[in-house]
Amino acid sequence: MDDCLFCKIARGQIPSRKVYEDDEVLVFHDINPARPVHLLVIPKHHITSLATVSEADIPVLGRMLAIANRLASEQGSPDGFRVIINTGRIGHQEVPHLHAHIVGGSEPVGPMLKRI
Ligand code: AMP
Ligand code: ZN
Repeated sequence: MDDCLFCKIARGQIPSRKVYEDDEVLVFHDINPARPVHLLVIPKHHITSLATVSEADIPVLGRMLAIANRLASEQGSPDGFRVIINTGRIGHQEVPHLHAHIVGGSEPVGPMLKRI
């Protein structure tokens, strides 16, 4: 995906504030944080969203969740955090490369959603 923003970040063509990297996963600070801790966890290879995952993506999806607790703790959210994966139009996904937001800090992040 030549012109995908997060693919470019994964390839190092666009700078990011990286906090973790392995063969399959990259974690960096969100450029516009909503909470004191706001990380983005992405697969390095392009997956558009949770709506397009396949069986082959199961290991990387597991890895993305399995590293969340350690990274949240290390980055300043040791007492819990929230993982958000916005998906598609209804989920208000703005960047079409699968990513998990890890949000937290020293205060609770608040109710899950505003009720309508
Ligand atoms: P979403 O609405 O779930 O697609 O979230 C996209 C997120 O990407 C937003 O929280 C943006 O602040 C974040 N974002 C956009 N561009 C960048 C960038 N260049 N580096 C880091 N985060 C970014
Ligand atoms: Zn991509």
